[in-house]
Amino acid sequence: MSNSRFNKKSVEDIDVKGKRVLLRCDLNVPIHDGKITDDSRIKASVPTIKFLSEHGARVVICSHLGKPEKRQNLEPVCKALSKTCKLPIKFVGSERVVDENVVAESNALKNGELMMIQNTRWRNEESKNEDSFSKELASLCDVFVYDAFGTCHRAHSSTAGITKFVKESVCGYLIKAELDKLCNYIDNPKRPFVTILGGSKIADKLKVIDKALDRSDIVIIGGGMSYTFLKGMGYEIGKSLLDESSIDYCMQMIDKAKKLGKDLVLPVDCVAAKEIPEPIDNKNIETKVFNIKNIDKDYMGLDIGPETIKIMMKHMINAKTILWNGPVGLFENQKFAFGTYSIAACMAKLKDCTTIIGGGDSASAVNNFGFAKKMTHISTGGGATLEFLKGEPLPGIESLTDK
Ligand code: AMP
Repeated sequence: MSNSRFNKKSVEDIDVKGKRVLLRCDLNVPIHDGKITDDSRIKASVPTIKFLSEHGARVVICSHLGKPEKRQNLEPVCKALSKTCKLPIKFVGSERVVDENVVAESNALKNGELMMIQNTRWRNEESKNEDSFSKELASLCDVFVYDAFGTCHRAHSSTAGITKFVKESVCGYLIKAELDKLCNYIDNPKRPFVTILGGSKIADKLKVIDKALDRSDIVIIGGGMSYTFLKGMGYEIGKSLLDESSIDYCMQMIDKAKKLGKDLVLPVDCVAAKEIPEPIDNKNIETKVFNIKNIDKDYMGLDIGPETIKIMMKHMINAKTILWNGPVGLFENQKFAFGTYSIAACMAKLKDCTTIIGGGDSASAVNNFGFAKKMTHISTGGGATLEFLKGEPLPGIESLTDK
């Protein structure tokens, strides 16, 4: 892609025939009562697996699954993946993930054949990115293919570490598509370019706000993190979320927007309640709409209000690119989901606009509201997409072989 920051080799740039390939997927799927409840990561891994098998590679697949202390078994995921790909995949499990038998099985693979090894997090060295485990993984392959976009912000043995011990490390289709799209849409946007940021943890997103002001024409802030801006502006925010340590930064951002002559749009009203509902989907909670300058001391703002929705829409309908990261309210509860729903619905309706969903909660919201097919791109990474938006290097990508 022209002018792209992304200049790494992909599976299409190398000859994999007869080579032993270690393919790092992100098969970290949710499993409840032994059942896989969301198989989107399995489906997303299929194109690269098929490509490698069809082109005669001898493929060893690996992935992490769940938290290290849970020691989840990857074998059921192997069965599901095999069914989805319609290809046999032999599971070669070992307590040590890699051992002599696993290496021998990888050597015995014929062209086009596939096997999978145990959850990489069964080894403590994985998350510490220790060379010892990276070397063991490298002993399973001639070429490393990395296709786990959701993990590329972490340097682990099976992401960045292994590349030190393999001659050639390339990305698969999932990563290539993510980075081609993110780089292309965000680095060369059609304008006006509007960024919408929400969520609760402002400290995680300080640099994202800063970068968004550089890149976009308009930055809209909603969700829990907007109240730190509003407090800094001297408004009474009641019991709404506040991160005192980020107030100065928020004021700097308001100044920066003024200097750049850009709009930094904040809520003018909110839907509030006396407390965060318990359980979170409790429908009996009483709500009240407040002007943002004067929220009752006992209340906390949990969604953007009707006037704010109107203002945000006005900005959105003229946009040619919209990037959205983070819900603008406590969308897990129906009573505070309307703001987030309205943004998703508005983006879904826009005809001549590139619409990008920056992963995590906004991606789940768009999927749950049924608007997924209407968006130009929904990123599969949560933390990885955020790091990308901050302009931070992604260790898993940096370590791949340059074109
Ligand atoms: P984050 O992890 O920072 O992206 O935040 C996502 C979470 O922020 C979601 O679980 C939302 O329910 C929550 N959230 C969004 N707006 C608010 C708000 N006004 N008050 C409290 N939580 C919120």
